[in-house]
Amino acid sequence: MIVGVPSESSPNERRVALVPSVVSGLGKAQLEVLVQRGAGDAAGFPDAEYERQGARLAADPAQLFGSAGIALCVGGLSRGPEADLAQFELLRAGQILVGLLHPLSAAWAIQRLAQKGVTSFALELLPRITRAQPMDALTSMATVAGYKAAVLAAEMLQKMYPLIMTAAGTITPARVFVIGAGVAGLQAIATSRRMGALVQAYDVRPAVKEQVESLGAKFVELGLDTAAAETAGGYARALGDEFYRRQKEVMAQAVADSDAVITTALVPGKKAPVLVSKEAVERMRPGSVIVDLAADTGGNCELTRPGETYTVHGVTIAGHRNLPSTVSYHASQMVARNLAAFLQNLAPDGEVKLNREDPVILETVVTHEGEVINPRIREALGLPVPHPW
Ligand code: NAD
Repeated sequence: MIVGVPSESSPNERRVALVPSVVSGLGKAQLEVLVQRGAGDAAGFPDAEYERQGARLAADPAQLFGSAGIALCVGGLSRGPEADLAQFELLRAGQILVGLLHPLSAAWAIQRLAQKGVTSFALELLPRITRAQPMDALTSMATVAGYKAAVLAAEMLQKMYPLIMTAAGTITPARVFVIGAGVAGLQAIATSRRMGALVQAYDVRPAVKEQVESLGAKFVELGLDTAAAETAGGYARALGDEFYRRQKEVMAQAVADSDAVITTALVPGKKAPVLVSKEAVERMRPGSVIVDLAADTGGNCELTRPGETYTVHGVTIAGHRNLPSTVSYHASQMVARNLAAFLQNLAPDGEVKLNREDPVILETVVTHEGEVINPRIREALGLPVPHPW
C-alpha cells in the first residue's frame, strides 16, 4: 500500500502530514511512503531526509494522487475552497484520505468526498479512549496552539512577564487570564507561568479547577451554576444565551484587570461562545492584548476579526486561524506520529481493514462507497440519520 504525502493546499499552511522519522516505521508495517517534492520544506524537512529514510518522491500532485492508495492531509479541506477543489479533482473512487478534515465546519467538503467515492477518515472524530491517544492529532495541535498563544501574547505585550527587582525599580509580573482550560488552555497556562506571569483561569467544567491550580495558576470563581456543563465525553456542553450573557458580565472585571487574555473556549461542533464583550475590551488598559484561539470558529471575543491582528481602544486582538502552522516543525512531528499510529491500526500488515468493531475506525470514518457515514455530519447536511453503515 502506498501512502501519499501531498504538499498542503490551504493558503499559509506550513505543516506536512508525515516527517522523515516516521517513514521507516511505516515501511516495516508494509506501508510505502511517497512524498510530493518540497512537501516538507516549509516545516524544515527537506526531500533528501525523506529519501534517506526510504521514502520515494513524486514530482507533482497528479503523480502523487495517481499512485497513492492512502492520501494524508493535515491542513484540512476547508480553508481555501479553490485550492481544495483542485485536490478534489485528483482524488478518485476507492482512494482513502486520512487527516484533519474539519468535518463539522466543512460538511460541504465531506459531501464532495462522498460524491467522489473516497473513503475518508477525520482524526477530529477519534473517540477519546486510551487506545486512541497516540493518534489524537486534535490534542497535539491544541498543545502547540496553547504554547504559541502564550508566546504570542508575551511578544505583543509592551511589558515583561516576570517579577524583576533592579536598581531601577521593581517590575511587577504581567497578569494573564486564560479562558477555557482544556488542552490548549492548560498549555497556555503552563507556558505563561514558565515565563513568570501571574496567571488566572476559568472554565465551565468544574473538574478543571484542580488542574489549573496544579499549574500554579488561580481559578477564578464566577459563582455560576456549571453543574451540567460537562458532557459524558468530558467536553463542554453548549449552555445557552442567558448563561453566556451572565458569564460575560461577571468575567468582565477579570478581563479588565489582565494584561493579556488568552481565550480557548470551544464547544465541539458549535460556534465558539462569545465570552469577552466589547465593553470588557474597552475596560482593559491600553497596551493590553487578547489572543483568541477560537477565532477559527467565530472567536470568544466580540471584537475578534478571524485571521487578523489589529488594535482597538488601545487593545491588540490577535485572531490567528491556524497557530499550529506557525510552529510547523514540531506540529508536523506530532501530527505525523498521530497519523502513523492511525495508519498502523487501519492497515496492519499493509492491507486496509475496515473493521467495524473497532471504535477508532467506526467513529472516524466520514465517507465510504459514495455515502456520508458519520451521523453528526449527516445531520449537518440534512441527511437521514442513522447512517447506512
Ligand atoms: P475543547 O477544545 O472542546 O474546549 C476547550 C475548553 O473550553 C474546554 O476545557 C471547555 O470546557 C472550555 N469551555 C467551553 N465553553 C466554555 C465557557 N463558556 N467558558 C469557559 N470555558 C469554556 O476541549 P479540549 O481541550 O479538547 O478538552 C476537553 C477535555 O477532554 C479535557 O478534559 C481534556 O483533558 C480531555 N481530553 C481527553 C483526551 C483523551 O484521550 N482521553 C484527549 C484530549 C483531551
